[in-house]
Amino acid sequence: MIDLEQLSAVCRNAGAELTPDVRLSELTTFKIGGACKALITLPDIAACQTIITYLRENQIPFTLIGRGSNLLAADQGYEGIVLKLGGALAAEITEENGAVTCGAGVSLKNLCLFALEHALTGLEFAFGIPGSVGGAVFMNAGAYDGEFSQVLESVTALDENGNLLTLGASELNLGYRHSVFMEHPWIVLQATVRLTSGEQEAIRAKMQDLLGRRKSKQPLEFPSAGSTFKRPVGSYASKLIDECGLKGYTVGGAQVSEKHAGFVVNRGGATFADVMAVCQHVQEVVKAQTGFILELEPEIIGEAE
Ligand SMILES: Cc1cc2nc3c(=O)[nH]c(=O)nc-3n(C[C@H](O)[C@H](O)[C@H](O)COP(=O)(O)OP(=O)(O)OC[C@H]3O[C@@H](n4cnc5c(N)ncnc54)[C@H](O)[C@@H]3O)c2cc1C
Repeated sequence: MIDLEQLSAVCRNAGAELTPDVRLSELTTFKIGGACKALITLPDIAACQTIITYLRENQIPFTLIGRGSNLLAADQGYEGIVLKLGGALAAEITEENGAVTCGAGVSLKNLCLFALEHALTGLEFAFGIPGSVGGAVFMNAGAYDGEFSQVLESVTALDENGNLLTLGASELNLGYRHSVFMEHPWIVLQATVRLTSGEQEAIRAKMQDLLGRRKSKQPLEFPSAGSTFKRPVGSYASKLIDECGLKGYTVGGAQVSEKHAGFVVNRGGATFADVMAVCQHVQEVVKAQTGFILELEPEIIGEAE
């Protein structure tokens, strides 16, 4: 039983905002998911330390989300607290000799626009990925010719005991859609990316080109969590799904996109159960017809019963 009154008081003292009963469908790009007990927006590092310590000491389950663009939330919601980075942690970006540092709650879009404004190259690949910097570090997000590991220099993180850690990129165990943050319950608070001076118009042109490619190939008109399956070694999920004739496969409101087989989209009113049914069918058919095993890419919040 979570004592929301006491938790509200802790939040007030720390300058954090608590909103009870927020639907995860409002916090995720898939627009799916029931309510969590409360959403707490953390304005700064001190508030993160205070509130996370309180939650741990009181054994209150919690999870941190970024922009909710790689999440699939259960229909019955989450019996815990959802944390989100706000304030300076979602706004501040600074630069020194090509090293760009920002709060982990900053959107990739704003980080890319900052790089463009300062004529810094290296991050163009990330323009159009609808996540936060923290989410991109967690997933080692990547697209086209780039991935976060190519530019990430270091991060400041909070460990499970409330200690601040400074970790260099080589300590982050970055691999394909993998980082050390999947192995430990640590929270990325800040990240520094190393960029190089470039030609502003060339940077702009590359960002626009990649965004244009996204718009023409991806079903951005429907809610989704982006690529639904990880790339299996030796092939591409979308190619396999397409070859198995699964484009358009539908359960309830969830559908394998007719435009891009790698996306399961919410055509309207999709539930977690609908998405999982579509994914399970896709995994079974692809395995039976091609031998490839497709693994889900989005993280799941709150397990289905
Ligand atoms: C239309 C569309 C296109 C996409 N295209 C791409 C693409 O090209 N390439 C790609 O890699 N991804 C893509 N994605 C997926 C997604 O945008 C990325 O994975 C992104 O990095 C997720 O960031 P987020 O802030 O939304 O994370 P969330 O979805 O909010 O969270 C994902 C996971 O990261 C963890 N997390 C978030 N912030 C932190 C933090 N500060 N500290 C520790 N853990 C944290 C969460 O706990 C959760 O487990 C796409 C998604 C959509 C909807």
